[in-house]
Amino acid sequence: MQDKNMLMIPGPTPVPESVLLAMAKHPIGHRSGDFSKIIAELTANLKWLHQTTNDLLMLTVSGTGAMEAAIINFLSPGDRILVGNNGKFGERWSLVGKAFGLQVEEITAEWGKPLDPEVFRAKLAADTAKTIKAVIITHSETSTGVLNDLETINTHVKNHGESLIIVDAVTSLGAVNVPIDQWGLDVVASGSQKGYMIPPGLGLISVSQKAWKAYENAKIPKFYLDLKAYKKATDKDSSPFTPPVNLMYGLQVSLQMMKKEGLESIFARHARLTQATRAAMKALGLPLFAPDEAASPAITAVMPTGVDAEAIRSTMKKQFDIALAGGQDHLKGKIFRIGHLGFVGERDILSAIAALESTLQTLGYEGATPGAGIAAAASILAKVG
Ligand SMILES: *Cc1c(COP(=O)(O)O)cnc(C)c1O
Repeated sequence: MQDKNMLMIPGPTPVPESVLLAMAKHPIGHRSGDFSKIIAELTANLKWLHQTTNDLLMLTVSGTGAMEAAIINFLSPGDRILVGNNGKFGERWSLVGKAFGLQVEEITAEWGKPLDPEVFRAKLAADTAKTIKAVIITHSETSTGVLNDLETINTHVKNHGESLIIVDAVTSLGAVNVPIDQWGLDVVASGSQKGYMIPPGLGLISVSQKAWKAYENAKIPKFYLDLKAYKKATDKDSSPFTPPVNLMYGLQVSLQMMKKEGLESIFARHARLTQATRAAMKALGLPLFAPDEAASPAITAVMPTGVDAEAIRSTMKKQFDIALAGGQDHLKGKIFRIGHLGFVGERDILSAIAALESTLQTLGYEGATPGAGIAAAASILAKVG
């Protein structure tokens, strides 16, 4: 059915109508006084959302551009870095680091399992010569639906003292508490099409004083992503190059919506949707890929048995216009992923679960009592509603 498409993937995420309408305007000059006011408002509201007084910079890139900026501005070729890799995005950080000649040491965990903070503690404690320049953690590993224990790993980085902590918060920011200042997170990268409720195209990055000190010694060449240029411009409510003006109209509205809802409520909503989704999958006998204690607030990965993951996805798409995400790399065809990030409410989750139950019946799956998924989700939503 035309215009009935429902995005339940972890990015791009659904966009509110008021945001879409805000973007449907003529662009204005990005050097105008009117646009300066918009940049000032966005910067202030983004700092609120990121819980930080650090510099908060907007880049015209996807999330990966913000990842690249996080590496090339603060490190030099040959620098030793520790990268947590338990999925596609952890792996991407390694690839970016290697592309720029860094000495990348991976700390891995099986896909679907969280990183073990103890391994970071031991590596950092053994580094008495202080050769580790940065530790990079993907907070919410979107490919597997795992939330890594950033808080604990960060404590070990703080005990090391020298190393920067660089965080991929692309699917955790705006979904779960990431208190940048309280935890002392040096560089935090994210992207607009995830928790910010706007389309793709804007990369966000926050930079601490300690990271700016590292910037002074960083020798990787850079131009478009040289963050000092963004800082200088942002300090004057401006932008070094032409920014995505219309996307920023949208961000104005989405941030106003988030402020109205409040951080605590936003986090509570994501926790509720995650719990309801997970309870439903359990009730339907569909195995969850990530453990309860490390469940991403943005995405639930499911590894069905007795029914084909890709058949589920194509039936959901064909019959219900609901887009679910599939698995990546070796998980292709083995898992499906339900996104519940950003502009997603309880009604969306109930619709998706009901459609999934119907899909399971269509596919002849016999592992579940009809209605069991909805009943389980409803009881979670009733408890907190
Ligand atoms: C989406 C995402 C990114 C960035 O991907 P882009 O396609 O470049 O926007 C980075 N890390 C994680 C964890 C993500 O989910």
